[in-house]
Amino acid sequence: MKDSNCIFCKIANGEIPSATIYEDGEFRVILDRGPATWGHALILPKEHFSDIYEIEDEVLTKAFVLAKKMAERMTEVLKCDGFNIIQNNGSPAGQTVFHFHIHLLPRYTDDGAKIGWKPNEISDEDLKKCLEQFSE
Ligand code: 5GP
Ligand code: ZN
Repeated sequence: MKDSNCIFCKIANGEIPSATIYEDGEFRVILDRGPATWGHALILPKEHFSDIYEIEDEVLTKAFVLAKKMAERMTEVLKCDGFNIIQNNGSPAGQTVFHFHIHLLPRYTDDGAKIGWKPNEISDEDLKKCLEQFSE
């Protein structure tokens, strides 16, 4: 299914031109227009799924296998020193385009990109409370 209001549906299916570094029947991999680092790319399924909760397992599996393949290829081409694979779901998690995508983020020593979080401390009591939520 495609969503006629979705920009990534249009890009993935070639209705809007993009800097494509890989394409097959199910996916297009494009360079991000607001890159965090040199070579920042996005894996877009050609079908519309808004996020991880909606995407079919079969497509998701293929998307992550492709992420590995792209990480290998991009590392070879770009000579990066490390690699982040990031996938955001929902506004609080930083998702801004509601068509499932995987960020491929080549990292370079001292590239200054701000990705990550400050670890908080958690008490034994809170750790137990959180654990218990999984057995409710
Ligand atoms: P999100 O924040 O949803 O995880 O990531 C959306 C990403 O899409 C951002 O990194 C943003 O720069 C990128 N982006 C948004 N619109 C376009 C576009 O029209 N073309 C390309 N190539 N990237 C886009
Ligand atoms: Zn879409």
